[in-house]
Amino acid sequence: MSKSVVLATQNITAGYGGHPAINDITVELREDEVLCLIGHNGAGKSTLLKCMFGLLGSESGVITIDGQVTTKETAREIADRGVAMVPEGRGVFPSLTVRDIFSLGMHAAGVPKKEQSDRVEWVLEILPAIKEFMNRPAGTLSGGQQQMVSIGRALLNRPRILLMDEPSIGLAPKLFQDLLAPIRALQQREKLSILLVEQNVREALKISDRAVVMKSGAMIWEGLPDELQDNERLMELY
Ligand code: ATP
Repeated sequence: MSKSVVLATQNITAGYGGHPAINDITVELREDEVLCLIGHNGAGKSTLLKCMFGLLGSESGVITIDGQVTTKETAREIADRGVAMVPEGRGVFPSLTVRDIFSLGMHAAGVPKKEQSDRVEWVLEILPAIKEFMNRPAGTLSGGQQQMVSIGRALLNRPRILLMDEPSIGLAPKLFQDLLAPIRALQQREKLSILLVEQNVREALKISDRAVVMKSGAMIWEGLPDELQDNERLMELY
């Protein structure tokens, strides 16, 4: 039986100051899968994620979540539908402690006070290394630790759909795997849907169910990770 589509864009065109950065993008994220989105710098990957998460309006096209049109919804409305985003560049406030970042995130998402400590506990079960630096300002953490905090903050909203924008930036492949392995385990256990934007293609494909490739604002390929593992095929697409 084919999996149902949880988030879809149909012919989305969007950009900045009247210049389209993505053109006519149609993509489907299905239930219980990791979809890897790859492409060079400037291909339009972040722009697509921003549109999906209500951070950037589109010029044309339609975005749906669970079949409902969300094209004009705000990030808060989209978050309320069970979507969370891990932004590119970590997005943690350097002067705040991890604990404060988590509190602020839950406050912004409207998580009831009485649920907040359970949520934090739950995230610490998934990413236990965070326990060691809960009380440190994020600015004093390593890149990998900050990335963990950024992912942890997104998970606090208990999303069904997680949009991750280049979590591997600045991380060695081994660290990246250490970070993604628990996320993949969580995804499989809870049947989450994850859209993973990555340039660290080889590592990302290892934990992906399907892959799409973007180039110069267009979607140029869609298929199974195994088909891309072959070097030549990958080079051709780039
Ligand atoms: P990267 O891997 O470098 O993050 P990307 O595939 O995510 O790249 P985008 O960040 O979506 O690519 O950028 C797509 C295009 O849109 C690029 O040409 C970029 O210069 C342009 N762009 C991105 N953000 C802005 C902005 N805020 N204002 C103007 N142009 C932008």
